[in-house]
Amino acid sequence: MGPKIFRLPENVINKIAAGEVVEGPSSIVKELIENSLDAGATSITIDIVQGGQQLITVTDNGCGMGAIDAQNCLERHATSKLREVEDLDSLATMGFRGEALAAIASVSHLELQTSDGKEATRILSEAGKIKEILPCARNRGTTIDVRFLFYNVPARKKFQKSTTATTSQVKRSVETISLAHPNVSFRLTIGGKKSFEVAPSSQKKRIEEVLGEYAHAVKGDGVEGFIGAPTLASSTRNGQYLFINKRPIFSPLIAKAVKEGFGTRIAENAYPPFVLFLDVPSDAVDVNVHPQKKEVRFESESSLFKLVQRSVENAFGQMAPVEISSFTPVTSFADTWEPLPFKVSDETPLEFNLGFTEKGLAIVGHYLLLQKGALVLVDLQAAHARVLFEQVRFEKGAAQALMWPLEVKVDDEGEEIAEALNGLGIECRLLKKMLVVDALPEQLESAHFPLFFEQWKETRKIELAINHVCRSVKKNWQMEEAIRLFRRSQKCKDTTYDPLGNPIWTEVNPEDLNSLLRRK
Ligand code: ADP
Ligand code: MG
Repeated sequence: MGPKIFRLPENVINKIAAGEVVEGPSSIVKELIENSLDAGATSITIDIVQGGQQLITVTDNGCGMGAIDAQNCLERHATSKLREVEDLDSLATMGFRGEALAAIASVSHLELQTSDGKEATRILSEAGKIKEILPCARNRGTTIDVRFLFYNVPARKKFQKSTTATTSQVKRSVETISLAHPNVSFRLTIGGKKSFEVAPSSQKKRIEEVLGEYAHAVKGDGVEGFIGAPTLASSTRNGQYLFINKRPIFSPLIAKAVKEGFGTRIAENAYPPFVLFLDVPSDAVDVNVHPQKKEVRFESESSLFKLVQRSVENAFGQMAPVEISSFTPVTSFADTWEPLPFKVSDETPLEFNLGFTEKGLAIVGHYLLLQKGALVLVDLQAAHARVLFEQVRFEKGAAQALMWPLEVKVDDEGEEIAEALNGLGIECRLLKKMLVVDALPEQLESAHFPLFFEQWKETRKIELAINHVCRSVKKNWQMEEAIRLFRRSQKCKDTTYDPLGNPIWTEVNPEDLNSLLRRK
């Protein structure tokens, strides 16, 4: 019998590799854009036709290639970015395997036009075979056209997603990469029609332009970025963007760390929005795990986890009311305003000034209107929940003794309940089938303890129990007490949200008032 083992021809190897590198139009767009960025481009335009299955064009103004490089770049493992094995550890560029162009070319008609500023070359290839090499005219930079994707791999072509699906994947790819490169302009057209365009700007501006409001800045040792308000948490991961050394990466580990940083502010099954950039020494991260470089492996996962979690936690602790300019403070209230023809709330003075920067204007139900540079609307129930939550969480020793101990009936689990409550700073002991409570956190009134206890016993979640108490108790708020509570809340670790992620306060803007009064 003759030999049965033969080496596969190069074009077959490329086609197999293409299966790994080239998932579909969006991963091709990503590879081509990353090449443009590696080439130092400051302007990148992308056009796709029929979701990219008909045509993908990427044009850049990067360094371009000379005629010889232009021919070589379509060869497998041809790269200008990696010379030695040691280089693998210290690679700053995006691509490094020298695989992408060869793989893409092997499953399409690829046309390359490139100029290094001296010579301009045009190369036509079909299924990875160069058909023509011509001189051409163009400015420095590179244009790559990918036509008839997978035309020679019918099985793959059949499994491509719909045009609508691939189009939105491509859009997401472009938007994602643009987040990490604010100094580069990007323009995506779909069949020639503009779909996405951003000019060079700052990091924060770019994020706001692409994603809308991502209010809270995150800053830590090697972590930077923004998180969205808990109220923007979603049931999908769509609002989550992670970059490691500027590469878009999917990491369930980091996503989980961010979520832990949000703590109880979002529901268990919700995904918090974030855009985070991690700077990890390149020898501590292995991006080689996945051919598409979407997933990574970290050297020290637990310390990275803690770092991200803590940075997100800190982002919540560093916020205070911001002053806005559209509000003109009134210096002497009585002079400018006629008394209101109706009472806002019984016995609530219209103006209450504690001699600090805040000036209480009115109390409406459990809302406090406050002048504090800006006009601020405070949800007193949310403020109360935040203060109580932090007392239970962080000031366990500060329980206040009750004049008359409380008694609650408990069943068999009495011992375990007493132990858990003591752990929350609620001092209690077991007397037969009775739980005797001797001291409570200062912000938890003894009259409300049964409410708290019921909810806590059922869910074993203090934030739910606290929310239940603070939201269901009807209180006749007095201005002095309300301002004192607001001030307490602004000394908390988190000054912006209650434990369930509801805002404690918001600025009142003309637009908000419009929505109250204008006809829709
Ligand atoms: P890699 O990016 O891993 O090196 P590629 O197959 O993506 O592999 O690209 C091969 C080589 O072609 C690159 O190393 C680079 O030298 C050159 N190249 C590709 N795209 C461009 C571009 N847009 N501008 C300049 N050079 C490019
Ligand atoms: Mg590349």
